[in-house]
Amino acid sequence: QQPIGVLAVVGRKGNRDLKDSQLMSNIGSALGFSLENLRQEEALRASEEKFRDLVENTSDVMWEMDENGVYTYCSPNVASILGYEPEELIGKTPFDFMPPEEAKRVGDLFGTIVAERKPFSLLAHQTRYKDGRLGVMECSGSPMFDEDGRFAGYRGVDRDISERKRAEEELRESEERFRQMAEQIRDLFWLREVETGDVVYASPAYETIWGRPLQQAYEDPKDWIESILPEDKERVSASFERMLQGESYEEEYRISRPDGSIRWIRDRGYPVRDQDGRIYRLTGIAEDITARRRAEETIRHLAYHDSLTDLANRTMFEDRLTVALAQARRKGRMAAVMFLDLDRFKVVNDTVGHALGDDLLQGVGERLTGLVREGDTVARLGGDEFTLLLAEVERAEDMVEVAERVLDTLRQPWVLNGHEFRITTSIGIAMFPNDGEDADSLLSNADTAMYRAKDQGRDNYKLYTPAMNARIVERLALENSLRHGLERGEFLVYYQPQVDIASGRIVGMEALVRWQHPERGLVFPAEFIPVAEETGLIVPLGAWVMRTACAQNKAWQAAGFPPMRVAVNLSARQFQQRNFTKMVDEVLKEADLEARWLQLEITEGVAMQDVESNIALLRELRQMGVQIAIDDFGTGHSSLSYLSRLPIDVVKIDQSFIQDLTTDPNGAAIARSIIVMAHNLKLRVIAEGVETEEQLAFLKKRRCDEMQGYLFSKPAPAEAFEEMLKQSGRTPRDRRPVEASR
Ligand code: C2E
Ligand code: CA
Ligand code: CA
Repeated sequence: QQPIGVLAVVGRKGNRDLKDSQLMSNIGSALGFSLENLRQEEALRASEEKFRDLVENTSDVMWEMDENGVYTYCSPNVASILGYEPEELIGKTPFDFMPPEEAKRVGDLFGTIVAERKPFSLLAHQTRYKDGRLGVMECSGSPMFDEDGRFAGYRGVDRDISERKRAEEELRESEERFRQMAEQIRDLFWLREVETGDVVYASPAYETIWGRPLQQAYEDPKDWIESILPEDKERVSASFERMLQGESYEEEYRISRPDGSIRWIRDRGYPVRDQDGRIYRLTGIAEDITARRRAEETIRHLAYHDSLTDLANRTMFEDRLTVALAQARRKGRMAAVMFLDLDRFKVVNDTVGHALGDDLLQGVGERLTGLVREGDTVARLGGDEFTLLLAEVERAEDMVEVAERVLDTLRQPWVLNGHEFRITTSIGIAMFPNDGEDADSLLSNADTAMYRAKDQGRDNYKLYTPAMNARIVERLALENSLRHGLERGEFLVYYQPQVDIASGRIVGMEALVRWQHPERGLVFPAEFIPVAEETGLIVPLGAWVMRTACAQNKAWQAAGFPPMRVAVNLSARQFQQRNFTKMVDEVLKEADLEARWLQLEITEGVAMQDVESNIALLRELRQMGVQIAIDDFGTGHSSLSYLSRLPIDVVKIDQSFIQDLTTDPNGAAIARSIIVMAHNLKLRVIAEGVETEEQLAFLKKRRCDEMQGYLFSKPAPAEAFEEMLKQSGRTPRDRRPVEASR
């Protein structure tokens, strides 16, 4: 019966060496009554059940077929798998359950297997279920041989792999769908491994957007970040890093392509988590938004530019002005707005026509743009009105210079369509902060000033504040005549004696510059030194004074007068010149004057400006043998002990303390302590501006070394000074001759 039949099959399967006849005899004896037999029977039943369980619960159908492929056995679980009872299969071949095509394919395959009596495994084939559906079975089998070793067919198992196949197919399908999508779309899909940083997937759009081979994206995962422009890189990589903390990422950035072109990218990314919620991948889409960006830029450009001249329009001008004002305010600088209006442009327009009028306006824009500095802005407000923003103005004079250049440039003839003609311009200037604190008031004040320029005959400029006009004009005139004065040799050096207080002898002199102005007469340094310093003219002027003073000093030595020092004043600008020491050295060589007869005076303020580099410079000068004096000492409120760090020789007490000496106890106290402390530091002290005997008496008592002042002599031209030298050695009271060494 059935169980025994199964047992027989299973038994054979369990013990392949057991022959059928033996098996049958075993069963026969199992039907006997011996205890031994009963026990065996019991054991058999147990094992039978075990195998039945196995057979019924396994999803593998077991079968046997003869040498023609006809089923001779089939395990009962075939019913639950294919729907057929085993009997329905017995006597049929597997090919009877296949569609014709498949039957032929598998039949051919099977034919060769059988011919070679080979075992086979994992042969997948279609099989029809009883309900008509088509499934896929995977079958394995091995040849059977009878006792005589003759081939008796195949024995094997079929496993239903339809589900797996379907799942595989579905996966393949979905991957295919994704691939089609990802590869058709113009955006780059990317997927990265967190741990390794490797690129798991990059769609082919990488090639079109990045202009690099797709392979590179995989082989060099840094390729992507390296392609980003330096200006954007840091921001993007910081944002990318935040994805690892679970944030989503969205950035717009620029990449540079191997052909040198720049592309704008919009990149969005998302973290991908595993079942445990751990972020293990990052994925995203990058699109090329270059076109959109360009369009935006164009729109922005249109919104901020004048379409005719492509200059800034009013909106942009006001924006820039507001920014510039904020900056100027912060830096404590000036800024200027110029309002330009072409004179009689309407006439031009009417005579040559609008088209040429437009050409002219464009030309004006070009000429103006060529004039200003990088940070400045040229705008066209409309019609023939232009504005200039000078973002950083150091001196009002600079601004006026620009205005003059503008007038001059626009005055140059225009050739349009074969016609040559000239136009002029009127300019109004408003300055921040003098003439207004905000964009609106500066613009409207510049406008007002422009109308004044028109009223006063056109082709000129006017500052909004009238007083400024006069001051600046004067200042500019001074600057110009200073320059000319230097070229024409209008300067003189006066000498003021420095007298040793103890002996009353002239031991030195200070060189003080004078300007012999052709119209104004003798001009004092207070009037022109500040302008010379601002314009830098002090550098050639100071060098000239030094050369003249050294040459004069040498001349007096050569004439047989006892040698003296000559003190020359230095401005900060000169002091800051590179090669300053070299220049001094050259002057000395040129004059053939020993360095010890030259003394350089720097004011306390200059000395204290950049102490460290001053120390080095002063040390160098002193090594050459030049003496250093600190001028106007006491005015800078620096302590003498601080001064002691500087390598110097002489301290000059400022005039203001000397003036107060006999009237103000404070002045006296200050002068006294300067002398004491300077002596402690082994410095000599010169008192400046000594005008009275009382002052001199005080200084003598306090052992001040030298004096300089009207009491002895005013600064004098070289000839007068020489007269003084001839009578040298006399105090102002008794001008007794000294033991002159001539
Ligand atoms: P400073 O270096 O303090 O020069 C001393 C000034 O005091 C001189 O004025 C001199 O004429 C004046 N003075 C001398 N004795 C008396 C006095 O008893 N009473 C009064 N009230 N004044 C007296 P000066 O010549 O007008 O020069 C003024 C300043 O111009 C100088 O001050 C110096 O800072 C500058 N200076 C003159 N020449 C040069 C130069 O060649 N280069 C540079 N960088 N600055 C110079
Ligand atoms: Ca001086
Ligand atoms: Ca002085």
